[in-house]
Amino acid sequence: MEFDKDHCIKMNDGNKIPAVGFGTYSPDAVQKSKCEEATKVAIEVGFRHIDGAFVYGTEEEVGRAIHEKIEDGTVKREDIFYTGKLGSTFHRPELVRSCLEQSLKKLKFDYLDLFIIHIPVSLKPGPDLSPMDENGKLIFDIVDLRQTWEAMEACKDAGLVKSIGVSNFNIRQLEMILNKPGLKYKPVLNQVECHPYLKQSKLLAFCKSKDILLEAYCALGSQRDKMWVDQSTPVLLEDPVLGAIAKKYNRSPALVALRYQLQRGIVVLFKSFTRKRLEENFQVFDFQLSEEDMKTIDGMNKNRSYVNLEPFFGHPQFPIIDE
Ligand code: NAP
Repeated sequence: MEFDKDHCIKMNDGNKIPAVGFGTYSPDAVQKSKCEEATKVAIEVGFRHIDGAFVYGTEEEVGRAIHEKIEDGTVKREDIFYTGKLGSTFHRPELVRSCLEQSLKKLKFDYLDLFIIHIPVSLKPGPDLSPMDENGKLIFDIVDLRQTWEAMEACKDAGLVKSIGVSNFNIRQLEMILNKPGLKYKPVLNQVECHPYLKQSKLLAFCKSKDILLEAYCALGSQRDKMWVDQSTPVLLEDPVLGAIAKKYNRSPALVALRYQLQRGIVVLFKSFTRKRLEENFQVFDFQLSEEDMKTIDGMNKNRSYVNLEPFFGHPQFPIIDE
């Protein structure tokens, strides 16, 4: 992957994205003020790419942190690359802009750098972001995502977002958008779970062939949030193969896991609310894994996702992951 001096990569619409991004999702049990503080530290350390979402419920705090760093002269708004995500209860085309405008209001921004469809599974519109029936099952909605995409294109045309993309899309769902009659803009990227246990090589090859970037989340093996992750799954950063490679380079397993994605041409996200780790993770640009070690990490693949998508089973847009 070609970076410029600011570690940015050009997307298919000509805009640039910093190759490593700071993630702002944290479970409800974590105080939102921690997210605000960590966002400030991430900017101080040098990260310029911040990944948020309407449903994370932290856009007010993240926005405040960014504005504080603008006011103290650390950055300008144009130095920051902020990604927002369309909530699943807003897939109906007439609702897309209202989700975006609510995010902009919370963030106190005039525009987002990137706006992506969070999940290709539509939920019943309304104030409840996770609408459930009496059996605790999500209440789905059926929306043609090609119409949702047209509403995303309109947000770009209105100048409210610079770039548009998708998340958690499989090849079939990407093809549905790419083959849409009258397509105005291609998605610039597809943000998906990706780490050494879930290499996503088929999806990566497809995206590369269409000039769409792949962006990895849970690149460090997720936060192991009980709500989404089966606690019996192996801990990525404790894997002995990753550990041995990390030792060889005198770096941490986390840094090796991040570097692995960059060398595959993947934009990579991580979350840390710890200053020491935020500083450490910035070293991802300071070393290079050999071809042999890249192949060894490739060999760790188990086609296994951490995020349990069971709540979405039964929706016609499934399955999400390409085997
Ligand atoms: P992750 O990046 O895989 O991070 C997992 C954990 O690693 C963090 O809780 C962090 O703990 C720890 N960590 C960070 N740096 C470390 C280091 N150097 N050494 C050891 N441990 C380290 O987790 P994630 O939050 O699941 O994914 C990242 C971001 O991707 C999210 O925040 C979100 O923005 C995005 N995401 C998107 C979707 C989607 O559907 N589009 C889904 C999931 C995530 P500490 O905080 O204690 O340092």
